[in-house]
Amino acid sequence: MSTDHMSTPTKIRVATTWLDGCSGCHMSFLDMDERLIALAERIEIVYSPLVDTKELPEQVDVGILEGSISSEDDLEKAKTFRKRCKLLVSLGDCAVNGNVPSMRNHFKLADVMDRAYRENVTLQPQIPTREVPALLGTVKPIHGVVPVDIFVPGCPPRADAIWHVLSELIEGRIPDPSQVTRFGA
Ligand code: SF4
Repeated sequence: MSTDHMSTPTKIRVATTWLDGCSGCHMSFLDMDERLIALAERIEIVYSPLVDTKELPEQVDVGILEGSISSEDDLEKAKTFRKRCKLLVSLGDCAVNGNVPSMRNHFKLADVMDRAYRENVTLQPQIPTREVPALLGTVKPIHGVVPVDIFVPGCPPRADAIWHVLSELIEGRIPDPSQVTRFGA
């Protein structure tokens, strides 16, 4: 059968990155296994730790952020994603409510730095001043610094939930992840 008359579906342009997280949400993305092949027909990953691109394009359809906002670097990345992505997704509990990274909010930043870089270190204990992005005073969820369109809780969200969200977006619908997600699951 000739396919000349059939048009290739438009791919949605997706960008992802991780902020202060453990990369587990991205691993759950990969857990979609063979469904990734079907996804590749309908989405183009234009920037992500999962692919070899170094620059976030100016125009992206869907931006997906894992992790919370803990450093100045996280803050800048979240702002840039918000500016360049039509829809912004908070992926995972760290992005949605701060989760593990926000546990340091119970302590003063100076005490946290001391604990990590001086008290528990035997070889050249010192607070880093170069190469490491400066930490913010408190950790925030993504929507604490930029507006978020879609929240996908879970630690990590199940691959089925991520599949549901992306499938709905591909069809041009705004997904409602509340039926397929729960915090901590
Ligand atoms: S939500 Fe859980 S899996 Fe995802 S980055 Fe945070 S700790 Fe890791």
